Amino acid sequence: MANILITNDDGVYSDGLIALYNSLRKIGNITVVAPDRPRSASGHSITLHKPLRVDKVRLANGEYGYATNGTPSDCVSLAILDLAGGPLDLVVSGINRGPNLGYDLTYSGTVSAAMEGAVYGITSFAISVTAYDDDLDFSLAGRFARYLGEILLQHKLPRSVLLNVNVPYVSADRLGGIEITRQGKRHYDGRLEKRTDPMGRTYYWLGGDLPVDVLEEGTDVKAVADDKISVTPIHLDLTADFLLEQLTEWDITDFPSK
Ligand code: MN
Repeated sequence: MANILITNDDGVYSDGLIALYNSLRKIGNITVVAPDRPRSASGHSITLHKPLRVDKVRLANGEYGYATNGTPSDCVSLAILDLAGGPLDLVVSGINRGPNLGYDLTYSGTVSAAMEGAVYGITSFAISVTAYDDDLDFSLAGRFARYLGEILLQHKLPRSVLLNVNVPYVSADRLGGIEITRQGKRHYDGRLEKRTDPMGRTYYWLGGDLPVDVLEEGTDVKAVADDKISVTPIHLDLTADFLLEQLTEWDITDFPSK
């Protein structure tokens, strides 16, 4: 059986993680290492300035997992370097409550955990559903995670690459299909609110407004808008190759350092 690590950024007690566990246990031995509290939007941060603590905890499905005070990326490192007890074949992060599309990716703890798996050279994917309701039905996303997991255990991903999966929140019979996509454009307009507290001091609150999606064909945001499951290959190499040549023409390298 394959050895599979499950982590997330919604915390070890989130029902999306349990749904993923119950689905993936049919294709592998599961290790769970996840944050002990919600860590959404923690990005690809790691913990260097304090000790990482690990507790063995009972999960909602009766199995055991590890809860840590670290970030999603820390969880992947802890699993690989110690807790998994052997080599991992697959890292799966999710199932996240809420989509991870377009420019969300670098903010996302869910996607960052899969990025960390890719840093270690392990085939990894992140999976999210596009809704935030309290009582989400993760069955479609869970089934797709198992289907994709089986494929990825056969076709290992190349080094430094991961997959980012977004599942629209529709019933299975309303699903518009599955599309291989590229990362699209989603940003947040007017996302900063400036307010005054009871003491008369100004404070700010980020993230109020709904995202603005650019619905280009072939992108993650468009696929999900069309009720399709989106699967995007993501490269850890963020180099803008198309600018390499142009930048050399801007005399940047002619800096008179002496
Ligand atoms: Mn989350």
